[in-house]
Amino acid sequence: MSLQLYDTASRKLAPVTSTNGTTTMYCCGPTVYRDAHVGNLRTFLLSDLVRRALTTADIDVKLIQNITDVGHMSEDIETEDKMLAQAKAESIDPFTVARKYEAAFHTDLARLNIQKADAYPRASESIELMLAMIEELIAKKFAYLGEDGTVYFSAQSFPSYGAISGNRLDALKPGHRYEYSEDGAKRFHADWALWKSAGTRSEMIWDSPWGPGFPGWHIECSAMSLHFLNSHINLHVGGIDLRFPHHENERAQSNAITGNESVDLWLHGEHLLFEGRKMSKSARNVVLLSDVIDRGFDPLAVRLCFLENRYRSQMDLTWASIEAADATLKRWRKKIKVWGKQVAQRDSEFLEIINNDLDTPKAIQYLRNLEKNDDNVDRAAIFLFADQVLGLDLDREEVIKALSLEQEETLKLRQIARNEKRWTESDELRIKLEESGLEIMDGPGGQVWTWR
Ligand code: AMP
Ligand code: ZN
Repeated sequence: MSLQLYDTASRKLAPVTSTNGTTTMYCCGPTVYRDAHVGNLRTFLLSDLVRRALTTADIDVKLIQNITDVGHMSEDIETEDKMLAQAKAESIDPFTVARKYEAAFHTDLARLNIQKADAYPRASESIELMLAMIEELIAKKFAYLGEDGTVYFSAQSFPSYGAISGNRLDALKPGHRYEYSEDGAKRFHADWALWKSAGTRSEMIWDSPWGPGFPGWHIECSAMSLHFLNSHINLHVGGIDLRFPHHENERAQSNAITGNESVDLWLHGEHLLFEGRKMSKSARNVVLLSDVIDRGFDPLAVRLCFLENRYRSQMDLTWASIEAADATLKRWRKKIKVWGKQVAQRDSEFLEIINNDLDTPKAIQYLRNLEKNDDNVDRAAIFLFADQVLGLDLDREEVIKALSLEQEETLKLRQIARNEKRWTESDELRIKLEESGLEIMDGPGGQVWTWR
């Protein structure tokens, strides 16, 4: 079975497609005006899991993730760009804000073992692409210039609007709470801005055929996905909140340009709660990966917590679950050493579980069962194979403190005692070593020690 995922548009499982032997993937990236919280990271992990599942099954993948550094307006203050608001708050240039949080985003991805996308195009550097697309949309009568100098997409010009979210135009009454409203000079309440007139804004603006201004948020994803993925996207990924209006609008723009269905499968990850609550600045409960590290946990413990939940279920992350996952990771890494590190060995049962709509909770349970099963299976080899998809660094050598001379001597004596089958002495030496802070395990290759 090849990888099947739940497609939000058709509301059923669908196989992941490819074009000329490569699966083209686009994942909506961060708006770089603040650090990503662990919820954002759960969504970014989703595209990594899909990519790893595909490449482990020998399918080529091209993954593009954009960096939103202009045009994403705040939900609270409709006229305020998130980047400009933060630049004001930090008293620095908005592009400095963007580069600062973009760097932090890449650090977080690396800490979570999220493999690099093929490119991370920035919205602010893709203005030409967007302008060309907007001109084409106007020429094809999908877009119009309002009296306020802003260019709008005409939702009614696109008959299948609503196919992803189910929000059909006849049901979208004026006053429906859009993510942010752009009343301006639009002709119909569900139309949205493609290019916004600068008005009094003086930063992050560009020249255009309609005067100085800046792009809307939705057009950037259409422009970048079609440009970098050769006009067809096999798989489009984002958090569930992006289903509407962001992806609905993106689909309308992209299909209007290509004349066909530009995306084969729309994949959405459900949201993350922390200790039972939605994370928000106002509730002061936003948790960052750096908070996890500050508490002494391996950031990959967070990755394991994500894996223990299905991507399309809402999940609750807690400090207790991170602590438990951290202990599991340490145990698994030790056991792999004890079992005798092996070369990864393809395991079709594990792949079947993953290919069934990324059933990572079942995959983790499969490993837990395997851990307890000491029959003739090569557990280390299967764990290492699974790790190609799970990305938990299970073969990582923990940083090891040097042994004291006495510990080294005791280890040697114990190995000799074992070789000579003097078990009582071997047990006594084990207790001595444990009291000195070591943990001793006996595997087929001899005794293995780790710091406790
Ligand atoms: P943003 O940086 O705000 O543009 O969001 C980046 C990504 O994180 C988007 O795909 C959002 O859908 C996703 N996202 C936002 N909040 C959460 C959350 N609590 N849990 C999971 N994903 C989220
Ligand atoms: Zn997007």
